[in-house]
Amino acid sequence: MDRLTEGHRRFHTQVFPGRRHQFHLLAESQAPEFLFITCSDSRIVPDLILGTGPGDLFISRNAGNVVPISSNDVDGTTATIEYAVEVLKVKHAILCGHSDCGAMKAALDRKALDPLPKASRWLRHVEAAFSHRQPSNPAEGEHAELAALIRGNVVAQLLNLKAQPAVARALAHDAISVHGWYYDILSGRIERYDEQIRRFLPLLEP
Ligand SMILES: [Zn+2]
Repeated sequence: MDRLTEGHRRFHTQVFPGRRHQFHLLAESQAPEFLFITCSDSRIVPDLILGTGPGDLFISRNAGNVVPISSNDVDGTTATIEYAVEVLKVKHAILCGHSDCGAMKAALDRKALDPLPKASRWLRHVEAAFSHRQPSNPAEGEHAELAALIRGNVVAQLLNLKAQPAVARALAHDAISVHGWYYDILSGRIERYDEQIRRFLPLLEP
């Protein structure tokens, strides 16, 4: 915990004073342009990989970057999506999966979930990944099968996102655009899903 206390001390004494004006404005309201849905994994630091900061991203995180589709239930992710779209009027919703995702590894080896009853039930939501599995990339070697399934989960959850009532309404009015991304931890690169050609392409043009 000392590390966190020290980190906060540095923020409060060195960072905050120089940005006091920005925080002053943000203290009253927020108007983020982006809803960012990603995995809880500690290796994904959205502000670091996207060059964003306070007030930019409205973030929802959970194991496996899932958007549940059950209409009988309420959960934190769909409630967050509803608020972001209906109240904050975000212009873009980004669903971002990542390499080496533990949730997707568990989906491949469900036995690992035996001692985790809640995770086991939660990760039923990623089963649609199997029917959207992407072609394996031989360059990814021993990780190719997992990476193909993780990209499939991005496609599956992107469909669930578009099916959320608030998102579907906003899409019908061209008030929002949705994006499916795959972040590769090893290379630091992001791929985007192209819905026209149904393939993942580099976010950055070569
Ligand atoms: Zn993950």
